[in-house]
Amino acid sequence: VLGVGFDDLTMAEAVAAGARLLTEEGCHYVVTPNPEIVEVCRENPAAMRAVNGADLVLPDGIGVIKGAAMLGTPLKEKTPGIEFAAGLMGEMAKEGKSLYLLGAKPGVAEKAAERLAAQYPGLKIAGTHDGYFKDTQQVVDAINAAGGADAVFVCLGAPKQEKFIAANIDDIHGTLFCGLGGSLDVFAGVSRRAPDIFIKLGLEWFYRLCSDPRRIGRMMQIPKFLLVVFAERRKQ
Ligand code: UDP
Repeated sequence: VLGVGFDDLTMAEAVAAGARLLTEEGCHYVVTPNPEIVEVCRENPAAMRAVNGADLVLPDGIGVIKGAAMLGTPLKEKTPGIEFAAGLMGEMAKEGKSLYLLGAKPGVAEKAAERLAAQYPGLKIAGTHDGYFKDTQQVVDAINAAGGADAVFVCLGAPKQEKFIAANIDDIHGTLFCGLGGSLDVFAGVSRRAPDIFIKLGLEWFYRLCSDPRRIGRMMQIPKFLLVVFAERRKQ
């Protein structure tokens, strides 16, 4: 979709693929772009490289699904990062795997850790760090000092999280890195995901806009994305 190579998977297939990556040699990463992030990637080659370099590129948002269909390359379904993360933690808990939480305002990752440990018995929380750091090396050292982790959730917003992962993946002792935007705020109970009816109707973006009108600038990327998709389709 406009240069971003999405994986065509159902949510169950995406979670299974994530769980498989956890068992494979080496380091892997997952990104979950929405239309805003596709637009960022089109304007920022480093972000595009970071996103397309991922092992799994999951479509987060109805806009990507509509865009893919209009371009004649339909995707099975949207696979939002937060739902992928929940499925992955379920699988990790069964195996007693460890998770490091990086991102959000100070205190949020700790709160998320407490709640996730209670929600997924068996899941080990290796450590947490907030997302407002100046010294990247200090964060890399902190994760390694905690003993690394099987999975690291990197929740710094896009494209910061994708760039952080691409730049540091080889230096952090972890197997699977997932860029998950504002998920820690939801896991911590600091913000709420849209009610199911909005999700079902493909209006989660609208709920998020009403809850936080400051998102309007970012959300102007969505009509821009759709206009570029229209233009591409006319060319085909
Ligand atoms: N954030 C961060 N460091 C930064 C900028 C943002 O940790 O330098 C966090 C922010 O606190 C929030 C998340 O990154 O928890 C981004 O959330 P947003 O809702 O913007 O992401 P989305 O889910 O829309 O991708």
